[in-house]
Amino acid sequence: MDLKKLASKLIPDENLLPLEEYEKLYPERELKKGAEVTRLAPSPTGFIHLGNLYSALADERIAHTTGGIFYLRIEDTDLKRKVDGAVDSVIRSLDYFGVCFDEGAEIASPLNKYGPYYQRQRADIYRAFAKNLIERGLAYPCFCTEDELNAVREEQTANKEITGYYGRYAKCRNLSEEEIYANLEAGKPFVIRLKSQGNTANKITFRDAIKGEITVTENDQDVVILKSDGIPTYHFAHAIDDHFMHTTLVIRGEEWLSSLPIHLELFSALGFKLPKYGHTCSLMKVDGGVKRKLSKRKDPELSLDYYRKAGYYPRAVVKYLMTILNSNFEEWERKNPQADYRDFKFSIDKMGKSGALFDIDKLNDVSKAELATLSAEQTYDFLNGWVNEFGSEADRQHFADREYIIKILNLICGIGGKKRRKDIVRAETGVGMLGYFFDDTFAPEYSYRFDAPTVNAVLNGFAAVYDESDDNQTWFAKVKGVAADCGFASEMSDYKANPQNYKGSVADVAEILRIAVTGMPNSPDLCTVMGIIGRGRTLARLSAGLVK
Ligand code: GLU
Repeated sequence: MDLKKLASKLIPDENLLPLEEYEKLYPERELKKGAEVTRLAPSPTGFIHLGNLYSALADERIAHTTGGIFYLRIEDTDLKRKVDGAVDSVIRSLDYFGVCFDEGAEIASPLNKYGPYYQRQRADIYRAFAKNLIERGLAYPCFCTEDELNAVREEQTANKEITGYYGRYAKCRNLSEEEIYANLEAGKPFVIRLKSQGNTANKITFRDAIKGEITVTENDQDVVILKSDGIPTYHFAHAIDDHFMHTTLVIRGEEWLSSLPIHLELFSALGFKLPKYGHTCSLMKVDGGVKRKLSKRKDPELSLDYYRKAGYYPRAVVKYLMTILNSNFEEWERKNPQADYRDFKFSIDKMGKSGALFDIDKLNDVSKAELATLSAEQTYDFLNGWVNEFGSEADRQHFADREYIIKILNLICGIGGKKRRKDIVRAETGVGMLGYFFDDTFAPEYSYRFDAPTVNAVLNGFAAVYDESDDNQTWFAKVKGVAADCGFASEMSDYKANPQNYKGSVADVAEILRIAVTGMPNSPDLCTVMGIIGRGRTLARLSAGLVK
């Protein structure tokens, strides 16, 4: 068969360059020895998830700790899945977590010499290489219809055989020259398939950069490389792109492991050096005592938007992911509490080989600890950023008074006090904790544990003596005075010795005051709360808290 003629008939494009020209267009990168070139290659579906961040963080750390490059390539060969604004959303979402690209789609960089970074804009390169494979007898046109392929699949399933287009099922593999031209003449649509040279009787030992040595079966599937619209499949496009963009290490999800034999054959057929591959394990969670994969449908925490909306401190999320990514990160952190996580020597060898457990409670702990390293001003800035994006109108108005919020934050975070408090987990709940400092969001639940005359006597008694210039000690002495006047023990020890003599202790009196002023039985130091909200508001709340 005249393969050159066939190739020109199937791919008549006149603008394709000789293959060596593509090599010249994308010369080796000038990087120091050991530098890794990694990439994130998402489809622009608009859904950017925790798994993407997890993988991107590993890519970014490895590239940047070795003096390499981390770039963004958009795998947009499937138009049906394309969502407007998706690329921007990938970049913004990752940027929020401090994961930045050096080059790639929509990245303004002088390094952008290996583009275009959108696969749809690289059609010529794919077509040039597909044409070459046809010329070399390593690819052929397939005219099978959807119905024919379904019938084959059914037959294979019934025979309990591996499904796919291979061996005796690969009907178009052996079409004669006449048959091919007759089909083309008849205008039948066709795809281009790889003519696999593999045999499933052969095993290949492969060293995965994460999972270590694995054995896979040689590919014998004649996979589609160009679809009927001339657009390549992932298998074909990624091989060509990773070659010309000089990716040295491909980190991708373990769901791709089953396609690895296809990729090994494609790289070999194309005459390209294989990059290193590292297949990450899936993120799992424990649900009802059972470990399972995080699912898009069931788990809102899979979406990266979730963390932004809930107001997680981005560095906390990143640090938590680092603990899952590298088993020795936590210990390093303990030894270097002040250090930037970027100073940690990230190592692909320390990545988990199987199921990575994502535990939101643990993330919450990391988040609390991380937020507790901030000053009141830094906490304000972080919360304010969240308020501006996701807060209510009332939140925005409250945050306009920076000084007032900073005073509150100093109090509720225990800044400057004996013990730094770790109560704020994330911005949404942190902002919620400030509600009682403002009249419009003060929503008291008057859950007093004493009868109305007692509560009213305490509230009136304290209102009569309250002086905002009192220091903490004087303030407390006054609370004790009110306690004694209202039949409570002003000393805890007295109450403990003879509880039957009292209605309760000074702590119960403070609780009544606290419920009236903050709406809750627990709050940070009440004297300071009163000081922050001011005399007018304090007296108004003591009065509003009276039981009618
Ligand atoms: N476009 C593929 C995906 O989103 C990329 C896989 C890879 O990184 O090679 O799953």
